[in-house]
Formats: sequence, structure tokens, C-alpha cells
Amino acid sequence: MEASIQAVRARAIEECSQVENLEELQQLRVKFLGKKGEVTQLLRGLGGIPAEQRPVVGQMVNNLKSELEQLYDEKQAQLERLIQQKRLQEETLDITLPGRMPRSGALHPLTLVLNEIKQIFIAMGYKVVEGPEIETDYYNFEALNIPKDHPARDMQDTFYITEDFLLRSQTSPVQIHVMERQEPPVRIIAPGKVYRADSDLTHSPMFHQVEGLLVDEGITFADLKGTLQAFAEAMFGPETRTRFRPSYFPFTEPSAEVDVSCIICRGRGCRVCSNTGWLEILGSGMVDPRVLAKVGYDVDKVSGFAFGMGIERIAMLKYGINDIRLFYINDHRFLNQFR
Ligand SMILES: [Zn+2]
Repeated sequence: MEASIQAVRARAIEECSQVENLEELQQLRVKFLGKKGEVTQLLRGLGGIPAEQRPVVGQMVNNLKSELEQLYDEKQAQLERLIQQKRLQEETLDITLPGRMPRSGALHPLTLVLNEIKQIFIAMGYKVVEGPEIETDYYNFEALNIPKDHPARDMQDTFYITEDFLLRSQTSPVQIHVMERQEPPVRIIAPGKVYRADSDLTHSPMFHQVEGLLVDEGITFADLKGTLQAFAEAMFGPETRTRFRPSYFPFTEPSAEVDVSCIICRGRGCRVCSNTGWLEILGSGMVDPRVLAKVGYDVDKVSGFAFGMGIERIAMLKYGINDIRLFYINDHRFLNQFR
């Protein structure tokens, strides 16, 4: 009996050393320790030996059982460690490799310029107002002192949708909407898209304007000049000078084109300013009392000024861009320069 216990032990240990994975180990457990396993068989065989030897031999078999259980548990732990190590090696991530950088967008140059214009006027107490891009003939022309047969209609090539509806050719109709809704004082800027049938290096069928309007008691041309001088200094630098030239717009009287000293050559003369030292940037004037009367304002009490500028024009000057179409074709090489 003792010899067969030793034989089972020797085989159980030998076979354990050959085991390479958890399945084989499990088979080994069943083979020696299972219900019909060899160690269990030994225990059953105790009945066949003399009673006085049973406790000693029984103890030996039980010792063998504990020894094998411990051996197999250790083997299992060892195999599990190996499996984990292998997984760790296989699934290793090299976190020192640089990742793929997310592509970050940037604001469009026209947005940048518009934001700057907005900030300057908001700081002066103006409110930003928007209006519809499809307008009636009345708001785009008649309310602005441009009746049907007025020659000023020829100044703009307008996109008509029907006889009465059109794509607004200027942001000025927003002034009328605001004045119809609101009593003076009015202090607004109205940015937005406008449309004209015109296309070349410096004109686009769609472009952006900012319109400004101030109506209150006792507003004079001096207020207009001071406001636009302050704007020019904030926009182009404190040394910027302005020049007002008499002009004509149907809804302002008197009207003036406003030039700023050339931001490229500081007034000495260069290609951009055609050697004049001046750049034309906006149109302005005192709101024609007929326009104010049409919206029901008391023209004996209030007066106002208005101004309008093209955002593309200012962006082209500010960034030295010579083709207006670059703003709209979404070329990344162009847009990436405004980060
Ligand atoms: Zn110049």
C-alpha cells in the first residue's frame, strides 16, 4: 500500500511539472483528486488493509491529498501569473508616442473684423440689431427716400425676387424697422449680408455691411465726425486721421464719404492708397428729415446720423488681401493665416 501511495505521488508530481495550461491542470486535478481520481481510489482501498495499519496509511493518503492540492494551487497561481504577463506584454500601449492632434478651427477673417467693429460700437453704447435679407421694395428703397423713378436706384444693381420682393442691397432697411418699433433715442449698428449684381476682384454678389444709426435730440454733424474719428482710431490705431468729403446718398443730407489716413503707408503714399495717402472706408451723413418723418419721428425735436461700411473692404485693407473672392472659397491655406 505504501509503495502504491509513493507511486501515485511520484506520477502526480511528475505530470504536474509537464502541465502547460489551466485546462491540463484541471484534467490533472480530476485525474488524481476527483471523485474517481487516483488519490480517492487509494482512500477507498483503505478498507482492504488491516485495521491497525489504517490510521497510519490513512494519514499518509490524506497528507498526499493535501500536498497535491497545495501543489496544484501553486501551479495554478503560477500559470495565471504567466498568462497575465503575456497579456500585459501583448497589450502594451506606448504612451510616449505622440497622438493625433485634433484639428482646431479658427474664426473667419470677416468674423474677426466684424467682432472688432461690434466691440468698438458696443463700447460707445450701441446695440447690435439684425434684419431680414429678403426685403420689400418699400424698406430697401422707398422708406429710404428712393422712390421708384429715383436715379439712385441705378447706383445699385438689385436682385429682384418678384416685383415687390428683393434681396436687400444694403443694411439700411434695418434702420427703418428699428425706428418703426422704437421711439428715440436710437443707437444701433446693423451688420449683415447684402446682395448686388456685381462681381470682380473687389466686388462680390454677396458681401457684408455694417450700418450705424444714432437718433436723439440735438445730434449734429460734429457728433458724426467725433464718433467716426473715435471708431477709426480704435480700429486702425490712435494715430489714424479721418477726412470727410462731400458726397451724395439719398437718405442722408448732408452726406460724406469718410477716408482714413492710409494704414499701410501712414499717409506717405503707396500702391494700396494709389499714392494719395488716404483710404475710403465708409459712407455717412445726417439722416434726411424726410426719412425720420416717414417713421413718425418729430423732426423738429430729433435729428440723427447714419453710416455704413463694407466689412470685406475693411478686412482687405487690414490684412492686405487683394481678391475679395478669397473670403468665400474656403481655401484652408488662406483661412489658416488668421489663427
Ligand atoms: Zn498708402
